Amino acid sequence: MNIIYRSFVYDFLYLLAGTAIKRINPCKIHAADTGQIICVNSHPCCSGCQYISDTGCTVKCLGCKLGLCSTAGNEHANLQKRLCRMKYVATCYHLRRIRTAKVYVMDDLKREQGVKIGGYSNYRIGIILYPELLLQTIE
Ligand code: SF4
Ligand code: SF4
Repeated sequence: MNIIYRSFVYDFLYLLAGTAIKRINPCKIHAADTGQIICVNSHPCCSGCQYISDTGCTVKCLGCKLGLCSTAGNEHANLQKRLCRMKYVATCYHLRRIRTAKVYVMDDLKREQGVKIGGYSNYRIGIILYPELLLQTIE
């Protein structure tokens, strides 16, 4: 159950962040006249990642979805603030890893199941405390 709930949180945040980013398009990634792929920060942060392809990211990665560089973030302060709230929730659930496909994050969490945090199991913390935080990520 714990892992199913965390998987739901992962997908939920990914969808929220992805929808907001798609609507605002803060990075404005495009091909320059030279053919080089550029963004508002000149150098897209996906460069060099094993998961990048000609058509973009090939995996579901929440950690990357929640991160904006300061150039894009300063231009879109409201989006940045909202992503920060989502980042906080993702961190609470141990879901925030960049350049890592969801399947690997989940595999690691399955191994960690049963670990206690402050005397409470991950399961109880997830079910009792965090839904309220999750709701705050919705605009
Ligand atoms: S977050 Fe910044 S560096 Fe990364 S793609 Fe967007 S604008 Fe470029
Ligand atoms: S995993 Fe992250 S850094 Fe890699 S291509 Fe996807 S979004 Fe970019």
